[in-house]
Amino acid sequence: MKFDRGIAKKYRKSVEDAFAMLMDKGDATHKRVIGAIIDSKMLVQVKPVSEVNASGRTGLVSSVKTNLRLATERIDLEEALGEVYIVIAEETIDTGFQRGCEGTFVHEGQHAYDFATALESFSNRDMNPIGVYDPTLYELEWNAHKTAGNYMLQINKQEYLDEGIGLMILGQDASGKYFVNDDGIRQRLRESYKLAEDGDMGPTASRMMGLVFA
Ligand SMILES: [Zn+2]
Repeated sequence: MKFDRGIAKKYRKSVEDAFAMLMDKGDATHKRVIGAIIDSKMLVQVKPVSEVNASGRTGLVSSVKTNLRLATERIDLEEALGEVYIVIAEETIDTGFQRGCEGTFVHEGQHAYDFATALESFSNRDMNPIGVYDPTLYELEWNAHKTAGNYMLQINKQEYLDEGIGLMILGQDASGKYFVNDDGIRQRLRESYKLAEDGDMGPTASRMMGLVFA
């Protein structure tokens, strides 16, 4: 990954620490996703929340350039990640500290990986049309919430577990054991995102990325 120019040192360090933690404490999926991002030229940005309008966001650096590439060449996952950025809000780091930073990158990192997987599949669509991967926003958010929940369980610290319960990503059974709460995630996606598996699943990744060949 590469950092945008002009990122304050303290933010850069928080991001680097978060990636190191995800690689150290994450499960096999976290290590695959975050490892691929680290090995790629994916762009990391840090901006005020007034510009990000969320704790973090994932998108294409230039959908014009990406469309051009997809029209003329095949790209693999690593190259596809180089088309993608993740921006994290300064406030996510200032007020959420390391947990907020890790949580944003585990969630947005999954989006970046899914976007890149989609881009790679689109670049091969002439050869393998049935292999095209174009998840809906519902599916993207499902993947991101599940992996965030798994990460909270991996860390297994009270502040992470409490946040998971608060976000309905985790549940707790009668014996006190924490688990990733699929029903809770469905409810959260329905209430906070207005998305449902049997209803509006939201736009597809190709539409969100502004792909014209999809
Ligand atoms: Zn998301």
